[in-house]
Amino acid sequence: MVYDDNNIFARILRGEIPCKKAYEDDFALAFHDIRPAAPVHVLVIPKGPYVSLEDLCANASPAFVGGFFKAVAATARQLGVLESGYRILANNGADAHQEVMHFHVHIFAGRPLGPMLKSPG
Ligand code: AMP
Repeated sequence: MVYDDNNIFARILRGEIPCKKAYEDDFALAFHDIRPAAPVHVLVIPKGPYVSLEDLCANASPAFVGGFFKAVAATARQLGVLESGYRILANNGADAHQEVMHFHVHIFAGRPLGPMLKSPG
């Protein structure tokens, strides 16, 4: 899939749309989800035009991929959820219900999160 420069997260990265920032470094920006599904729900996005995990790993340098995932960990640290625990999740493609076509990792925390997936439907 071709990356769309006008997707909502690209616009947040360019500062065209505001966000509630949780963490930022050279590799990633993290901000609170606009429709939180848990008391803590933050999205971590790479600072580059990657649609999916496959796109990121195929086309970004190993240093960038590593830097991005270190930023996910740094965001969790910044949020203060290391001791209580947290979940990371990344939706990729149609079956995963990916809505925004800029790769992102969700961080959920702030309450017991229960089993990982809902019952099969
Ligand atoms: P996904 O289904 O993994 O693509 O999730 C996209 C997420 O982006 C959803 O949880 C949305 O609530 C969230 N989202 C969409 N627009 C914004 C926005 N402007 N600021 C923060 N979160 C957003």
